Amino acid sequence: MTLNLTGKHLIAGEWVEGSTTFTSSPASGESHTFFAGSAALVDRAMKAAEEAFVTYGYSSREERAKFLEAIAEQIDARGDEITKIGSQETGLPEARLVGERGRTTGQLRLFATHILKGDYLDRRHDAALPDRQPLPRPDIRLMQRPIGPVGVFGASNFPLAFSTAGGDTASALAAGCPVVVKGHEAHPGTSEIVAQAIAAAIKSCGIHPGVFSLIQGGNRETGEAICLHPLTRAVGFTGSLRGGRALFDLCVRREEPIPFFGELGSVNPMFLLPAAVSARGETIAKGWAGSLTMGAGQFCTNPGIAVVKEGAEADAFLETAKTALAATNAQTMLTDGIANAYREGAKRIEATEGVQSVLTTTCDLRNATPYLFATTGENWLANHVLGEEVFGPLGVLVTVKDEAEMVHIAESLVGQLTTTLQMDDADAPIARKLLPILERKSGRVLANGFPTGVEVCDAMVHGGPYPATTNFGATSVGTMAIRRFMRPVSYQNIPVALLPEDLQ
Ligand code: NAP
Repeated sequence: MTLNLTGKHLIAGEWVEGSTTFTSSPASGESHTFFAGSAALVDRAMKAAEEAFVTYGYSSREERAKFLEAIAEQIDARGDEITKIGSQETGLPEARLVGERGRTTGQLRLFATHILKGDYLDRRHDAALPDRQPLPRPDIRLMQRPIGPVGVFGASNFPLAFSTAGGDTASALAAGCPVVVKGHEAHPGTSEIVAQAIAAAIKSCGIHPGVFSLIQGGNRETGEAICLHPLTRAVGFTGSLRGGRALFDLCVRREEPIPFFGELGSVNPMFLLPAAVSARGETIAKGWAGSLTMGAGQFCTNPGIAVVKEGAEADAFLETAKTALAATNAQTMLTDGIANAYREGAKRIEATEGVQSVLTTTCDLRNATPYLFATTGENWLANHVLGEEVFGPLGVLVTVKDEAEMVHIAESLVGQLTTTLQMDDADAPIARKLLPILERKSGRVLANGFPTGVEVCDAMVHGGPYPATTNFGATSVGTMAIRRFMRPVSYQNIPVALLPEDLQ
């Protein structure tokens, strides 16, 4: 199969060159040359997006649902091409790419159904009370409205489901907002082919082409320009705490600050409660190893920390986890940079005082093998570095003296995407103490499962307090993600004929 790549940016329906180029670094197969982004290209795309908003922001929900469905169809039509280039660029197995494509088209279709239902508009009406004393009440109606052009950063670890046509793009387009995507440099070919699918859907649906642009990466200027452009109304991002924080700061320091919805990082602590460990410690340990190593550990929901009461059962748990992790083969990571950062992170933990190295088979280049460390609760509390995310298949088992120390660890956590309780009925008293603490620390609290594999549905929250995200009131997965790109507007005494169609 030949790949249909131009190496160009897609700006408002046109394939455009830039003045500089970069070369992709695929995990396998040949590299390709792409034009790099620039502030001038961002300006062109944002102006087109603003122009498109004039009509797209007032399009009907039926029109937008059809458009989202058409994007999904066009992505499926390019399925083999996407799997081939995606797997070459990221090193992810083909089966994972096929699964992730299903999730991506599923998200687009879910948002189509969601907007047709209309509940997300949160329509309210306080009818006029002309005879009310001492003052009459005016007629007031409220509805959520799209905010305008949205910037989206493609994520390295989800080349489809959190990139060009991923959850951020799908929710913004569903809301009625045009999107300008900054492609991630780790998978520019995948981004281009998905952009071709969106361009085809725009054409077939007769939508203003400014509704979508893809600007490839290749330099920092592009991402900065998206955050700083005066027409950008909000930004969606998935990536590192460092990068996300830098871009968040740019967004809030603008003369007119805008929301930056950054999904940054998390160690997703798991609390292993005593009765559960006694009853099924071995099964939990094997499950933990599976969750830690899934996708080479490159998930923001990777459960990097497990907290357990010290003793023979904790020792057996550690041994089982070690054996299960040691049996995992080396896996290819998404980029050389991510593989290096993983090994550096492991070194940082290994060098921390009071840390026992349980499994440390290292490998080189873009590969990753699992690491397992153990430490005491007291040491974990004293060393901030042990609570920082190491992106990859790395676990730290924290053994606590007693229940009070376990509670203390929960209290000391910074914001997390998820926290997990492994519990049996007899653990209910301690679980009851932990739950009110954990719900303040994380976007999702689970019992007896593993946080990897985030369900895309109405009740999902993939969010949490800082530093898990930069906006604790939001989710980037599930239908509630649409709220990020809408804001409530009250219409007071506006003649019905002038109101947006959805409010009439
Ligand atoms: P990243 O470094 O945060 O980069 C993500 C995107 O933001 C890229 O497009 C990057 O552009 C841009 N960016 C970062 N810093 C910037 C700055 N100061 N100014 C302008 N643009 C900036 O994430 P990554 O490349 O995907 O992976 C690196 C590390 O991020 C991983 O090792 C891991 O620790 C973490 N990560 C976490 C998650 C998660 O879900 N928690 C997901 C992916 C990665 P450039 O490519 O031009 O730098």
